[in-house]
Amino acid sequence: MLRQSLLIAAVLLARVAGATPLEVTEVSPGIFVHQGVHEDFGEHYHGDIANIGFVIGQDAVAVIDSGGTYAVGKALREAIRLRTALPVRYVINTHVHSDHIFGNAAFAEDKPEYIGHHLLPRAIKQRAESYLANLTTMLGEAANGSRLVPPSRLVESVLTLDLGSRKLVLRAWPVAHTDSDLTVMDERSGTLWTGDLLFCERTPSIDGDILGWLAVIQELATMPARLVIPGHGQVSADKNTALEKQRMYLQTLLDDVRRGIKEGRTMTETLSNAARAEEKKWILFGTVNSRNAAVLYPVLEWE
Ligand SMILES: [Zn+2]
Repeated sequence: MLRQSLLIAAVLLARVAGATPLEVTEVSPGIFVHQGVHEDFGEHYHGDIANIGFVIGQDAVAVIDSGGTYAVGKALREAIRLRTALPVRYVINTHVHSDHIFGNAAFAEDKPEYIGHHLLPRAIKQRAESYLANLTTMLGEAANGSRLVPPSRLVESVLTLDLGSRKLVLRAWPVAHTDSDLTVMDERSGTLWTGDLLFCERTPSIDGDILGWLAVIQELATMPARLVIPGHGQVSADKNTALEKQRMYLQTLLDDVRRGIKEGRTMTETLSNAARAEEKKWILFGTVNSRNAAVLYPVLEWE
C-alpha cells in the first residue's frame, strides 16, 4: 500500500516536472522495455515506433536506444526516475536510425557516455541534416529539442560495461540492417537486445546489405539467449523462431529480385511481385517491401 502511494506520488511529481513517464514493462528483473507502435514514417509519425528501454544494475543504469524525439527520450528518462535514483551512466545506440536515437539529448544532464558502433559517427554525420529536416517536417513543434548526439565511446568489436554486478556485452556487427548495428547482451539474465537486426511482426527494412544481414542472422542464432528484445515488435523467449521467420522473408525477397533481373523484368515489374508469398505474415508490408525491393534491384543487377 505504502509502495503504491509512493509510486503514485512519484508519478504526479514527474508530471509536474513536465513529462509523462513512458510506459515500460519489466520483462526480466531490472530490464525495462517500451514497445513502440507499428507505424511507418510519414504523416502520422510521432517518434514512438521503436523498442527502447533501460537496464538497472547495482550502481548505474544503461539506456538502450532513446526514442525518435527529444520528448520520447524525456519520457523514457521519467520512467527511469520512477524506478531508481541511480545515475544513467550509459546511453547505448543500437544503430543510426532516427526512431532509435533522436531522444539522446534528453539525457544530456546525466552526462552519460554515449556508446555506439565505430561507424556510427560517420553515419550520423551523413544523415544528421536530412534526418532533422524530415523530423521537423513530420512533427513540427513536437520535434523540438531533438538532435543527433554522436557517441563519445566507440565499439570496435566487443565492449563490456559493468553496471554493478551486472555486465552488458556490446558487440559491433558487419554491415547488415545498417552499417552501424550493435547488440547488447545482459549476461545475468541472458537477455539479448538486437536493435533492428531483428524485426518481429513488422516488415524488416533494409538499409545496409541483405547478404551481410543473412550472415549475421546465422551468427545470432548461435548465441544463447533466454529472452530476445527486437528493435520492433514483441519481446520473445524464442529467439531462433523469430530469426528464422525474418530469414525466410529476406531470403524470399532476395531470390525473387534475383529471378526478376535474370528473367529481364523491369524494376517496376519485379517490385510488384517480390516476396509476395510473405505478404500476409508481416505488418506494413506494402510500403516497406517495395522500398526494400527498390533498394536491392540496382545492387543485384551488377552481381
Ligand atoms: Zn533501423
